[in-house]
Amino acid sequence: MIGADLITATARGLYCAAGDFYIDPWQPAERALITHAHGDHLRAGSARYHVAARGTALARQRLPADATIVSLPYGETLDFGPVRVSLHPAGHILGSAQVRVERGGEVWVVSGDYKRDPDPTCEPFEVVPCDVFISEATFALPAYRWTATGQVAREILDWWHTNREHGAASVLFAYALGKAQRVLAELAALTHDPVFLHGAMTGLVEAYREAGVAMLPTLPAIQAKPVNYAGSLILAPPSAAGSPWMRRFGEHRTGFCSGWMRVRGDRRRRGYDRGFVLSDHADWPSLLRTFRDTGARRILLTHGYTDAMCRYLKDLGVDAAALATEYGATE
Ligand SMILES: [Zn+2]
Ligand SMILES: [Zn+2]
Repeated sequence: MIGADLITATARGLYCAAGDFYIDPWQPAERALITHAHGDHLRAGSARYHVAARGTALARQRLPADATIVSLPYGETLDFGPVRVSLHPAGHILGSAQVRVERGGEVWVVSGDYKRDPDPTCEPFEVVPCDVFISEATFALPAYRWTATGQVAREILDWWHTNREHGAASVLFAYALGKAQRVLAELAALTHDPVFLHGAMTGLVEAYREAGVAMLPTLPAIQAKPVNYAGSLILAPPSAAGSPWMRRFGEHRTGFCSGWMRVRGDRRRRGYDRGFVLSDHADWPSLLRTFRDTGARRILLTHGYTDAMCRYLKDLGVDAAALATEYGATE
C-alpha cells in the first residue's frame, strides 16, 4: 500500500481503499462521504451517507426517506481504519464540504464543487493544506472571471425595476439549490419586496431559512386566486423556461443567473432576454489561487474543463492529471 494513491477513480466513484469508503459515488456504495447535495454528487442507493452537519437537512430532502444519514460537524474527525477524515467548508452551497483524508501524515483533499467569492448563504471556503488536491474544473478557462456579487445583485434589481416600469413581470431562472437562495439573500440587502417562487424551490428555500439564512420574503408562484404579476420578480428553475407554467405571468422578461452567462455565445444560444454572471463555482483566477493556497504538490481534476487546466498546469511544471468522473450535470 505504501506509495499507492490514497484516493482513486473507480467505476463506482472516487474510492479510498485504505479506509474503504467512497466520496460522492455515482453508483451505490456501502459508505459514501458526501461533499454536497447537488444531484451529481449526492445520489440515492448507498447504505450510509456521511454529510456535513450544516447540509443534513438538504441531504434529507434529496434522498429517499429511509436513507441512513450521519452528520459530521465541520472540522471534527472520523476514523476509518488507518484513515482519518474530516469535512471543511467549500463555499459552494449551504453545508457543502471538502473532504480531508489523512493517512500516516499524507493529506489528500477532495474539494467537491467550491468557490472563493463571498456568499451570505453558506460558510466561506476554508483553505486546507494538503499534498494532493482533487479539484473541480467547471469553469477552468481564462475567459471565466466573475463580477463582484454585490454588483450583480444591483444589476438584477435594476432589471427588475426597469421591467416594472414597463408593466412587465421579471422571470429569473436560477438553479433551485444554492443559486436561488443566494439571489434571495443578496437582494435582501437591497430591497424588502417579496419574490414569487416556483414550487421546486419552496422546500429548499425553507431549509435555508431554518438554517438561519436571511432572505427576501417569498410567495408561491401559483396562487389560489388569479394574481397580477406585472412588476413582480419570479424565481424559477431553468427547466421551467418555455413551459406552459410561464403563461400565467402575462407580459414578462426572462433572465438567467449562471456562470455560463459570462460568454456572449452562451447568452445568445440560450435565448434569455438577460444574463447575469453569478456562479457557485470557482472562476479561473480562483482555481489557480486555490491550488497555490493549498500548497499541494499534485493536482487532480474531476470535471469541467479538466484538459485545458491540466495542460496549463503541466506547462507550469505542476504535477497534474484528470480523473474520469461522472460529475458536472448541475451547472
Ligand atoms: Zn454542486
Ligand atoms: Zn458538481
